[in-house]
Amino acid sequence: MSNYRIQGATGEWEVIIGLEVHAQITTAAKLFSGAATAFGAEPNAQVSLIDAAMPGMLPVPNQECIRQAVRTGLAIDAQINSYSRFDRKNYFYADLPQGYQISQLYHPIVGEGHVDISLDDKNPDAEVKRIGVERIHVEQDAGKLMHDQHPTMSYVDLNRSGVALMEIVSRPDMRSPAEAGAYLRKLRSILRYVGSCDGNMEEGSMRADVNVSVRKVGDELGTRTETKNVNSVRFVMATVEHEANRQVDVLESGGKIVQETRLFDPDTGTTRSMRSKEDAHDYRYFPDPDLLPLVLEPGFIEDCRASLPELPDAKRHRYETVLGLTPYAAGVLTAEVETALWFEALADATAAAQAKTKAEVAKQASNWLLSEFFGALNKIGRTLENSPVGPEAAAELLALVGNSTISGTIAKQVLEKMLETGDGAGVIVEREGLKQTSDTGAIDAAIAGILAANADKVAQYKGGKEALFGFFVGQTMKVMQGKANPQVVNELLKKALG
Ligand code: MN
Repeated sequence: MSNYRIQGATGEWEVIIGLEVHAQITTAAKLFSGAATAFGAEPNAQVSLIDAAMPGMLPVPNQECIRQAVRTGLAIDAQINSYSRFDRKNYFYADLPQGYQISQLYHPIVGEGHVDISLDDKNPDAEVKRIGVERIHVEQDAGKLMHDQHPTMSYVDLNRSGVALMEIVSRPDMRSPAEAGAYLRKLRSILRYVGSCDGNMEEGSMRADVNVSVRKVGDELGTRTETKNVNSVRFVMATVEHEANRQVDVLESGGKIVQETRLFDPDTGTTRSMRSKEDAHDYRYFPDPDLLPLVLEPGFIEDCRASLPELPDAKRHRYETVLGLTPYAAGVLTAEVETALWFEALADATAAAQAKTKAEVAKQASNWLLSEFFGALNKIGRTLENSPVGPEAAAELLALVGNSTISGTIAKQVLEKMLETGDGAGVIVEREGLKQTSDTGAIDAAIAGILAANADKVAQYKGGKEALFGFFVGQTMKVMQGKANPQVVNELLKKALG
């Protein structure tokens, strides 16, 4: 699907990308303790004795974290392992008081699955590429060191210590920055639909380790580097771009790529070496003796499956086939779960207000949302989530257009007033006298005035310049302040010019 290549001095290079995404599980409590997980609390206000690794404390798995990991696995069509186990990954960090992280190396809870991406926004059904997911395992997050609080000392905040993460490991199936970006956006969209992670990359609840290598087309895989904790889609794409070009430069000047961990610097758009990469055996993984293996009953897995909502691809296809929307519109409306829910509420309310079926009003609702409403919201710096106009209020406006009470032009003005004042469409139309008129007397009077003032154009029109008809329509609507029924204007103008 992508023929992305780097043109080197010695020929064309192919880029191989795999992503390891750490996604914070949306739960009230941590993975093995009852401490809270809310973002933005005072440092060390959400730390239990378990999170602080006091001697003798025992971890107890939080069932909700397990449930969300299983639901996520089902959402990417993955193998759910009814037997999994927790392992200790031993390493020392000042923000990890246990001295080890509880993770799952040998027996992850979720096995092989996949995420389908498309690079064609205009037609998301075209050129679909399947990106393999090797596994999802559940593990603890570490705390946070703060180096800017004191001139000579570092502080530690353990609020995040022990928070549940899913590590979602892709196959090295991506071949361009655009594919990496599309995969990350699609994965985030699925997590948000499922509700297992809020996908908020700025707050660190989703971050990606970016594995990149390059090779001449057809060669064996090259040595990869891993750039850690990249926290936006744009930065992931920039990491791939920079790192691939750097590797080509190194290889073409006779150097070797070393397997290492690197850091992305958003200020310069470049990566730099952090430390040479450890292999799994360096961590001395072993089964955590404090925790029994995790055995999932079939009924539990089926309950998880039954709790899944309609997912983005299924929803998009339904919008196309059942609601008759274009692939483009269906793609935009389903990309984020909030947009899809808003659209559905609008379509339901619009159908009810106009006594029609949802399929009959879907196009009107979709066109209006995509072309008018998003633009108007953007102008006042709002989004659907904090919009002063909800789906019910919008449906009232659409109904006024649908039954010809107001014209489409007037509807734009009414929407602006709605956003400004929070008043309903009907109230505004009544108050400001914006109702569309089919009063032929008033329209005829307006036409007579316009024809008298533009005798030259009338002559040209009668002489065969028919394109001028639009000019007369525009002038009439202007005099009528946009309130004349366009159909009536057309008829009366034809008569007057005939
Ligand atoms: Mn990890």
